[in-house]
Amino acid sequence: MQKRKQNKLTLHNGSRIGVVGGGPAGSFFTFFAFDLAKKQGISIEIDIYEIKDFTKTGTAGCNHCGGIVSESLVQMLSTDGIVLPPQVVRRGIETYTLHLEHGSTTIDTILHEHPIASIFRGSGPLGSTVTTLQSFDAYLLGLCERKGAKILREKVTDTESEPDGITLITGNSKRKYDLVVGAVGLNPKTLRIFQKIIPSFIPPKTTNTYICEYFLGSETITKHFGNSMHVFLLNLPGIKFGALIPKGVYVTLVLLGTEINMEVVDRFLNSEAVLDCFPEGTELKNITPCQCFPSINIGGAKNPYSDRVVLIGDSASSKLYKNGIGAAYITGKAAVNTVFLDGISKADFKKSFQPVCSKLDRDNSVGKLIFSVSTIILKSIFLKKVLFRMVVKEQEKERGKREMSSLLWDTFTGSAPYRNIMLRTLNPFLLANLIWKILTALAKSAIGNNKSTDL
Ligand SMILES: Cc1cc2nc3c(=O)[nH]c(=O)nc-3n(C[C@H](O)[C@H](O)[C@H](O)COP(=O)(O)OP(=O)(O)OC[C@H]3O[C@@H](n4cnc5c(N)ncnc54)[C@H](O)[C@@H]3O)c2cc1C
Repeated sequence: MQKRKQNKLTLHNGSRIGVVGGGPAGSFFTFFAFDLAKKQGISIEIDIYEIKDFTKTGTAGCNHCGGIVSESLVQMLSTDGIVLPPQVVRRGIETYTLHLEHGSTTIDTILHEHPIASIFRGSGPLGSTVTTLQSFDAYLLGLCERKGAKILREKVTDTESEPDGITLITGNSKRKYDLVVGAVGLNPKTLRIFQKIIPSFIPPKTTNTYICEYFLGSETITKHFGNSMHVFLLNLPGIKFGALIPKGVYVTLVLLGTEINMEVVDRFLNSEAVLDCFPEGTELKNITPCQCFPSINIGGAKNPYSDRVVLIGDSASSKLYKNGIGAAYITGKAAVNTVFLDGISKADFKKSFQPVCSKLDRDNSVGKLIFSVSTIILKSIFLKKVLFRMVVKEQEKERGKREMSSLLWDTFTGSAPYRNIMLRTLNPFLLANLIWKILTALAKSAIGNNKSTDL
């Protein structure tokens, strides 16, 4: 027994950790690792390798994201003592505006305690002037640096695994670590480097999305978008979800769906509901946007760990279409708990880290079902009208009793697990109300049809 304990792979005083990737997952891991090591009386060293410089604008500092920090994550972070400072939050989102083909309505957030934050992952879109405002990723990295992490602006190009440690290789250095953490997002080249040391690792499934930033100026943004996230449920092929998110002097457009291309984007931008949001006569084509088609995680990785190595965040399991930063927080924290409370062997990660990834993956299966149902609703003008009327009517009720509005809010922002959303959808009162609304609408349309036939 004593011998087994001695052989167990664990971190000890002076252990060195190499974190590849300084996005949210890498930063959350580092932040909580220093905290837990301190609680255990262990002194550790952490190097974070990050190729991007988040103080830069455009591609050099961007991590391609809608930039919504969900209500639930804002709450969890504040419990952990991470309160996003005003210079990081570009706007506090207090409402969402639902746009359908036949109208739009604005809905208050449910809790109103911690508004959602809209942030930039880098220092802003290409061409923007650097201001005193700060990037979210730079802010998190700064917190890690203050705890003692060393930030290395180097690209990891290779890895070597030996029984007593893993070596990270960059253009000009080779450093050996007791533990290596892969927080490299969906970067295919870097994921292949990890496959070399974890042969059974299968990277996550991805699809491409569209993101673009329009400069409109603060006054126009306040007048036309306010502190509201604009969500579009339109029957447009290829698009599951479209949103316009106000951020300082920019508005960010995010399109999620399957294999989004420029044709799909143009169709969305030329739809009446979208054009109505912008000042009359705005020629979006004339505003040179900062745009790209980044990949998004739509299926968890397999076996993202081995002895002395673990992958977290987008590189392992995320949340389908929403709150990827929240999932990075969850997997980052789960890896920290495993490393310090169990150990750093493959068996330790399988026992304590894998269940957290599996829970996210299972929840995403429920999410897929929810998005399939919503695709059916998107295609039916009749069902959308019923839903729209229901949501509008709910605004007369007290905040806590607006069930459908709160379900949509959590689906759009990723604030709640999909399982929780599904269970709330099955609430008998909500279902009865929905069926009643559908029947009344059907009856009204039948009476309308009869009258027109009589005439
Ligand atoms: C269009 C779109 C919109 C989204 N909107 C939202 C949203 O509004 N809210 C939300 O919560 N989530 C959103 N997401 C998801 C979110 O962006 C991700 O889930 C999140 O960024 C994952 O964080 P991460 O740290 O795992 O990976 P990343 O943020 O991708 O960070 C990985 C880091 O690793 C670095 N790296 C990679 N390879 C190397 C290497 N070899 N050497 C050194 N460094 C390396 C990269 O430079 C990068 O900084 C969106 C995603 C997309 C595509």
